[in-house]
Amino acid sequence: MNDGMDELYRDIILDHYRNPRNSGSIEGDSVIIIEEFNPLCGDKIIVYLHSLSGELIDDIKFIGEGCSISQSSASIMTDLVIGKKIEHAKQIVQQFHTFITGGNIDEDDNSLGDIDAFKGVRKFPARIKCAGLAWNSLDKAIDSMKKLT
Ligand code: ZN
Repeated sequence: MNDGMDELYRDIILDHYRNPRNSGSIEGDSVIIIEEFNPLCGDKIIVYLHSLSGELIDDIKFIGEGCSISQSSASIMTDLVIGKKIEHAKQIVQQFHTFITGGNIDEDDNSLGDIDAFKGVRKFPARIKCAGLAWNSLDKAIDSMKKLT
């Protein structure tokens, strides 16, 4: 990887950090709320997941604080899974974990969007926790939603 690439990835991460997509909370009885904390870095993510049918992610938002990696990852995650089927979202979570721990994914798969930006994170185990925080929240939110339906 050359420096130009590193810069591109840094730009994507900073863009999501400064202008987070789907930031905020969702009101309502059927909203699933999962809070995750990363004590190593002090990152916090609260994910709000709303699905009317239990099959589609109708809405997803997050509130968080912490480092740019954790917050941009939450922004990218919500952006990727909003409007998608629950099962598809679950697959994307798995692909993210494969990618972040050094495994291979199909990088031409458009549904994985800006996940590429976290390529540099794979070299830093402490940062993997930061990047994975929002995804763990989503994973738990989907699991608790399944228990309800
Ligand atoms: Zn962090």
